[in-house]
Amino acid sequence: MQFASQILSNVEIARDYWRIRLTAPREFAAATPGQFVMVRIGGGLDPLLRRPLAVFDLGTDETGGVAQVWFEMLYKVVGKGTAMLSTMRAGSAVDILGPLGTGFDMGGDDEEKLLVGGGIGLAPLYLLATELVRRKSPVHLFAGGRTRDDLLCLTDFERLSVKCHCATEDGSYGAKGFVTVALNRHLDALAGKATLYACGPDGMLHALAKIAAERKLPCQVSLEGYMACGVGACLGCVATGKNHSPQTPDYRCVCTEGPVFEASELQWGA
Ligand SMILES: Cc1cc2nc3c(=O)[nH]c(=O)nc-3n(C[C@H](O)[C@H](O)[C@H](O)COP(=O)(O)OP(=O)(O)OC[C@H]3O[C@@H](n4cnc5c(N)ncnc54)[C@H](O)[C@@H]3O)c2cc1C
Repeated sequence: MQFASQILSNVEIARDYWRIRLTAPREFAAATPGQFVMVRIGGGLDPLLRRPLAVFDLGTDETGGVAQVWFEMLYKVVGKGTAMLSTMRAGSAVDILGPLGTGFDMGGDDEEKLLVGGGIGLAPLYLLATELVRRKSPVHLFAGGRTRDDLLCLTDFERLSVKCHCATEDGSYGAKGFVTVALNRHLDALAGKATLYACGPDGMLHALAKIAAERKLPCQVSLEGYMACGVGACLGCVATGKNHSPQTPDYRCVCTEGPVFEASELQWGA
């Protein structure tokens, strides 16, 4: 659905990272973890294309007997569109298309849910954690970043009683090094079953796909590549599927078939 939304708040939570809350129509409350929206930023021709952002959180406020659905997004300022978004204040109007895409599969309740987020990759994992906790699954978050500022909204995850394991490359918070080290340590001690859910830089997702394959664990990854239309029309966001070869092309459309894929369904290169 396409709708005119109003910004309720837009706050810088760490250097270059922002958290924005917007109004939404009642039907938006059906959005599921891993889905995203396409945001039209500004009313002019530049930027022309909408920008995809994950749904971070979702709720309904009751004021004066009137229910108002809201949703939040976490975004990192990396270029023109996100820089413009960061200048917009409460009360401004934003045109939204969504919720879009195929989100995370919740899987069974008899297993640990291991969420792995790198930097802004934590964005789609919070709504997922909320839903998994509601289903009474044991949830662990492995949060990685270059430095402390890249570990976003940890107190929000902790408030859900998610056990957070942190790693930074510069050692400014948590263990020093990649988040996969902490994850591997946890997996070595794991007695029962587990599913991995991940979002973050390509290198991290690639490493996780390898870990999951070696340990024979299901692993769902949310991809954040370039995307132009968000509805499967432009085919600008395809990922390479596991059966791809020059003779038999196998491309998966990230915006409609994804952005969440089972890691073993994709081709990860060497
Ligand atoms: C399904 C999906 C969900 C996403 N969710 C989030 C989210 O919740 N929070 C968030 O901050 N970002 C998210 N992204 C990425 C976000 O869409 C881009 O960062 C944003 O479109 C950049 O717009 P811009 O105009 O600021 O940057 P541009 O001016 O378009 O680009 C600036 C720089 O960033 C690089 N860049 C732009 N887009 C991407 C990208 N997708 N991947 C890698 N590099 C890129 C460009 O090469 C360029 O160097 C998501 C992407 C997808 C596909």
